[in-house]
Amino acid sequence: MTIAVKTLGKPKTTPEALLNALFRPMGIDGVYGRTGKYEDVVEALAALISRCRPTGAEVLRFPPVVSRAMIEKSGYLKSFPHLLGCVCNLEGGEREIGAAVDRFLAGEDWTGALKTADLVLAPAACYPVYPLAAKRGALPAEGYVFDVACDCFRREPSRDIDRLQSFRMREFVRIGTPEQVRAFREDWMSRATAIAESLGLAYRVEAASDPFFGRGGLLVSKAQAQQELKFELVVPVRSAEKPTACMSFNYHRDHFGQTWAMKTQAGEAAHTACIAFGMDRLAVALFATHGVEPAEWPAGVRKALAL
Ligand code: 5GP
Ligand code: ZN
Repeated sequence: MTIAVKTLGKPKTTPEALLNALFRPMGIDGVYGRTGKYEDVVEALAALISRCRPTGAEVLRFPPVVSRAMIEKSGYLKSFPHLLGCVCNLEGGEREIGAAVDRFLAGEDWTGALKTADLVLAPAACYPVYPLAAKRGALPAEGYVFDVACDCFRREPSRDIDRLQSFRMREFVRIGTPEQVRAFREDWMSRATAIAESLGLAYRVEAASDPFFGRGGLLVSKAQAQQELKFELVVPVRSAEKPTACMSFNYHRDHFGQTWAMKTQAGEAAHTACIAFGMDRLAVALFATHGVEPAEWPAGVRKALAL
């Protein structure tokens, strides 16, 4: 696999200037209101990615909550329990719910009465697609390509402009034979660099790993990087030394195929890969690179975004 290596320059705009121009505080680190100027760029990016959509891709948009049982079965609790946000709510009749409200009104803690619901906040856009595809029976010979997106949540409070708790993710997901899936990921690694070029971003593509939980997780992370199961396209946002992952290229091998008993025509477990575009990180990277005023961005970048 070829990896682009580049020396990255400093971002033009400081994180403080970005925060002021793009976001409005909502009282919680990593959760922000977004300005119109910022949203115009997110929308333009989404349209650009749609123009690059793989032929035959099936488009699905998911809500920001997904089934807890589905996420449990997907293995998320083994890998990233520290990042998961779960929905909880008050249950019971007027007496039970009223008692919790009374505790709140009396200035006491009411949250002990909350019950865990059957929903969690979506930690990535692609999880619902695998059980959905598996239910259709054996894969067609050409496999599947999906274009999915949703608002994602990861419990990582931070003041860094590139680490949000609530952010938007768009993904192209490939399901098929190992050969189909590997070819798709390889092809998209070069397509994605072409997108970054057209956006005038300084970038590098590098082998990467996910933040698997705990001491055991460190070993899993290492193996993931060694086996080149994850690559990231990184762009200087806060600094050139620590560039930010704005896209990721993930090969899950037969993990989801096994989990959901999803089979190829030959009766083997399907392989899967996803190409993830961090919409908020890409937008912030554009402002960090070209400045806080899109009207003043280079003509080529504005043209690529149809701004
Ligand atoms: P991954 O599943 O590879 O961790 O995430 C896919 C993409 O979502 C990342 O490449 C990144 O662009 C985006 N992303 C992941 N975590 C965050 C985050 O904390 N904040 C923001 N804004 N984007 C994130
Ligand atoms: Zn994914």
